Amino acid sequence: MERIIIVGGSFGGLTAAFRLKDRLGKRADITLISDDGRFTFMPSLPWVTMGWKKPEKIVFDIRRPLQRRDINFLLGKVSHFDLNRQSVHVEGREEHYDQLLIATGSDLDFRAIPGLGPEAYTHSILTFEHTLLAREKLARILSADSGNIVVGCSQGASCLGPAYEMVLMIDLDLRRRGKRHHFNIHFITPEPFLGHFGIGGTGKARRAMEDDFYDKDIDFHLNAQVEEITPESVQLKDGSSIPQDYSMIVPPFLGVDAVRKSEGLGNPKGFILVDEGYRHVNEAVHCVGVAIALAPPYLTPVPVGVPKTANMTIQMAKIATEDLISQIQNNPRPVPSPLSVTCIADQGNTALYFKVSPVLPPRQRLFTRKAVWAHMLKQGLERYEMWRFRNGFSRLPG
Ligand SMILES: Cc1cc2nc3c(=O)[nH]c(=O)nc-3n(C[C@H](O)[C@H](O)[C@H](O)COP(=O)(O)OP(=O)(O)OC[C@H]3O[C@@H](n4cnc5c(N)ncnc54)[C@H](O)[C@@H]3O)c2cc1C
Repeated sequence: MERIIIVGGSFGGLTAAFRLKDRLGKRADITLISDDGRFTFMPSLPWVTMGWKKPEKIVFDIRRPLQRRDINFLLGKVSHFDLNRQSVHVEGREEHYDQLLIATGSDLDFRAIPGLGPEAYTHSILTFEHTLLAREKLARILSADSGNIVVGCSQGASCLGPAYEMVLMIDLDLRRRGKRHHFNIHFITPEPFLGHFGIGGTGKARRAMEDDFYDKDIDFHLNAQVEEITPESVQLKDGSSIPQDYSMIVPPFLGVDAVRKSEGLGNPKGFILVDEGYRHVNEAVHCVGVAIALAPPYLTPVPVGVPKTANMTIQMAKIATEDLISQIQNNPRPVPSPLSVTCIADQGNTALYFKVSPVLPPRQRLFTRKAVWAHMLKQGLERYEMWRFRNGFSRLPG
């Protein structure tokens, strides 16, 4: 029987585990390893930060659905992978595999910029724990009489959407409280234009975002490179100094420690290079989601990372599992269709929806709309995906 190890218990790891179980049943012994026994629906973290959603609504224990599907679970941090011995080192144990699928996401490189991060002077909503802290401090500033708020992304960041969501939701909240005119709001981004998102823009998203930012009096700084953050200000490389009482800045991403420490696995930054079937050059290894290496397709004046969204991660996991199965069964490799990007940038009472395919221009399909239905769709998607993962389904049953 084939022994398959999956590392990571989030969008990539769970989708792969449930799909492999669907397709291989008892013909494979599947083990999922994660250093977190919970699944967090990260796209809802901005609502939690605003205090509009209870944190416990977007997390659940992954042990139950895995057990229900007869998938072994090991709670522990992988220290490194040994590709020659086909093994994973976790909490002092060596686990051998025939096939390995890595979905470990990324680390956050707060050390890249002085003053960056929740242990220094900026907030983050990129993990559950950071979000709780950011929420508490945000509630304090929103109930103050006035203030300076800075939201945005540092150079090299590749998860830009949540920053757009946060700045527009903070604006909405202050307007609802009737005191938006007592606050300065700044948005900083390494992008050359609003709505670039690391993929060269998505049709009308640029215009829609620019209209919103002008209408709402949000000062935006393009091609921004953060030099340093102090308790009072965000300093940019072009010499500007933006006063801050509260700032939330997405840091650059780095591959996880376990990949960086494993010989022959990742690039110097710890991201894993794979082919179109998400297979590594070492054929027993597949990798999906934020952990893969995706070179920025455009030379921008300031580096902007390519997004690897939850939606893209799920698509990758589906392609990778088919590829892995073809390998086990000695079948020809399937030819995957190109990835598309579907994204809903929520604004609290409306949202910008876009779907583009393929990821980079020129594109066959391109659809962008700002509408209340998109805001409702995002809430519905949270409920659907949470229900699906919580019950161990790789897709709608039936
Ligand atoms: C605030 C925010 C908002 C977002 N909004 C959206 C959105 O609206 N739409 C969208 O499509 N995407 C959104 N995303 C992106 C989405 O969350 C990611 O694309 C998705 O989480 C990637 O899934 P993943 O499985 O690759 O990695 P991750 O979700 O990062 O999970 C990594 C997993 O690996 C485990 N792990 C890591 N290292 C180890 C180790 N050494 N040993 C064992 N286990 C390990 C972790 O515990 C975790 O279970 C958002 C992200 C954030 C942070």
